[in-house]
Amino acid sequence: TNPVFTGLPTTIFETMSRLAIANGAINLGQGFPDVDGPLDVRQTAADALIAGPNQYPPMLGLPELRQAVAASTKRFYDLDVDWQSEVMVTSGATEALADVLLALLEPGDEVILIEPLYDCYLPLVKRAGGIPVRLRVTPPQWKLDLGKLADAFTENTKAILINNPMNPAGKVFGEEELAAIARLCIEHGVYAICDEVYEHLLFDGRQHLPLMAFPGMRERAVRIGSAGKTFSLTGWKVGYVTAAPNLLDPIAKAHQFVTFTTPPNLQKAVAYGLGKEDSYFLTLRDEMQAKRDRFASGLAALGFGVLPCEGTYFLTCDVSTLGLQGTDVDICRQLVEEAGVAAVPVSAFYVADAPTNFVRFCFCKKDEVLDGALERLDAFL
Ligand code: PMP
Ligand code: GLN
Repeated sequence: TNPVFTGLPTTIFETMSRLAIANGAINLGQGFPDVDGPLDVRQTAADALIAGPNQYPPMLGLPELRQAVAASTKRFYDLDVDWQSEVMVTSGATEALADVLLALLEPGDEVILIEPLYDCYLPLVKRAGGIPVRLRVTPPQWKLDLGKLADAFTENTKAILINNPMNPAGKVFGEEELAAIARLCIEHGVYAICDEVYEHLLFDGRQHLPLMAFPGMRERAVRIGSAGKTFSLTGWKVGYVTAAPNLLDPIAKAHQFVTFTTPPNLQKAVAYGLGKEDSYFLTLRDEMQAKRDRFASGLAALGFGVLPCEGTYFLTCDVSTLGLQGTDVDICRQLVEEAGVAAVPVSAFYVADAPTNFVRFCFCKKDEVLDGALERLDAFL
């Protein structure tokens, strides 16, 4: 068996969700909303399921969804992309990441990863033969050290993988940081794999800046999105990749042997969803920001060292201020078993030498659920 996967533990998200169920805990661990996305989007999926056809859709995705992805890229970022040669539908951003890494990497290629990192990046890079090169942003501001960034690029660098907005840090990369990444990618002939699944969840007036929109990046950036996040339908697993034709072509070759297609009724519904009026996307963001504020102030009042959250639906907290014993893993176990609230230890997002004093809470939950979690934490602490 392959050493990359042999002996690998079950993901921290699945582990914490199982523990939450076993302990009857409020699950603020794994990231998913507790209210399903828009009824009209779900109705479109249901109608399309009944009306059919329910056979294999085109390998690259339904034309109407690829057109909708291209149209929303134009609407939100003023980027012109050709839906026929530059957009492909995948079964979630996870499949997109796998396709992109399988297609673009050759054994021995270095890939720059920024810690804390989303859990599937490392095993996928390694299984594709890539050599991970780690870079870190450090709390509380999670700023990128531009000197260290430059040092991470070598003659063997093939790609940098960036998650913006960033899970679990809640960081939104600033224009200066993105411009520095773009400059280095161009100088070294490196691809930027941009996981932008939280592109509509930026707070306090911030605007999402796709790296693809920076000068010189149109040809080397691969942009990944997910309907799971944008429409609060994480179980649908509908994602999309946008890239220049010469990059999308090999990515599509990987996709055709990984999943080949994605359920057509879901594609139809997501195409409809992407065409919704601006107010849908703005309301999603504003409601999430209100939840962030509600939950962050509640946690702070209980003594958690709440870090800034500029985007995503995750709050990272320093728990060393609470007077509890043990690492983040120990504390998450105590919280789920004794307080009845599940969170995720942030050390799970590091390859090695992780800090052990941070936990991540997911706040895309009903207000009463967030308040209930705060009550339970208060009773425990
Ligand atoms: N990237 C990041 C940063 C994520 O948080 C997630 C979470 N679900 C994914 C990718 C995977 O998205 P999907 O469910 O569309 O595969
Ligand atoms: N992206 C989700 C999170 O960060 C988890 C998705 C999963 O469980 N694979 O919580």
